[in-house]
Amino acid sequence: MDKLKIAIQKSGRLYEDSIKMLKDCSIEINIGIDKLKTTAMNFPLEILFLRDDDIPQYLEDGVADIGIVGKNVLLEKRKKIKIKETLGFGKCRLSIAIPKSSKYHDIEDLHGKKIATSYPFLVQEFFMERCISAEIHEISGAVEIAPGIGLADCICDLVSSGSTLFMNGLKEVETVLQSEAVLASHLNLCSSKNIIMDKLLFRIRAVKRAKNNKYILLNVPNDRLDKIISYLPGIKSPVILPLANSECSAVHSVVNENDFWGIIENLKSLGAQDILVLPIEKIVL
Ligand code: ATP
Ligand code: ZN
Repeated sequence: MDKLKIAIQKSGRLYEDSIKMLKDCSIEINIGIDKLKTTAMNFPLEILFLRDDDIPQYLEDGVADIGIVGKNVLLEKRKKIKIKETLGFGKCRLSIAIPKSSKYHDIEDLHGKKIATSYPFLVQEFFMERCISAEIHEISGAVEIAPGIGLADCICDLVSSGSTLFMNGLKEVETVLQSEAVLASHLNLCSSKNIIMDKLLFRIRAVKRAKNNKYILLNVPNDRLDKIISYLPGIKSPVILPLANSECSAVHSVVNENDFWGIIENLKSLGAQDILVLPIEKIVL
């Protein structure tokens, strides 16, 4: 039987979350000592461990069928590959930063400046769209020290908390791209590999949906039931169960993480009691 080859980062910021995502999809993998490649034990998947920068090229060439890589790397490399799913981890932004002491009003202030970056294509595109001409210096690492050593006036680099910029005396002034890890694929997978990829995507989507939702159980006085369930649409509609105390009912539903605290506050103020909130492992629709 054909196996689908997935490329993931060998070590670095995407490694742990990529492995965890496969495990959450109930895919068992044994990582050997050499960590070049391994085969899943209960799913037709071969895992290749690579540098993240090389993954788009391997996907274009078909050496790997699918891969997990940051959107930032994928868009910078401009290879002919397809994004199949965003994965919700590895979140960061590609931002322009200038020395803390410099004044900044708007993007016009970057006109004619020297900017150091490992993302020359994305930065060039960003400036061209805004009719700004700046001098781009491509460097492969330690971009944040470039202004301090006189190599550039400003930088464009990946930021998550902003603490690295702060420690290097820089401040963020423009966002070029919001990024996260994505699952990308070779353009022309054969039909048997497409079937395996669709099975994997089906699992990934079930896990993603579950992560974004919580299972909620609460007790509700019967005279408030209609009002309370109007806040709890659930997947189709909430479950309502009678309690031994005939004045109250138990309500079970699913709530989206983003709306969670707002809904809980409303439920409390409407008289809901004994609210339990549980994580969900998978949601299959
Ligand atoms: P490799 O050795 O594989 O080339 P790397 O050093 O280029 O690794 P990492 O620093 O491990 O790469 O980052 C991998 C990806 O993690 C980035 O391309 C980006 O998509 C994501 N990421 C998330 N947060 C950050 C951050 N604060 N800084 C850098 N990358 C981040
Ligand atoms: Zn890299």
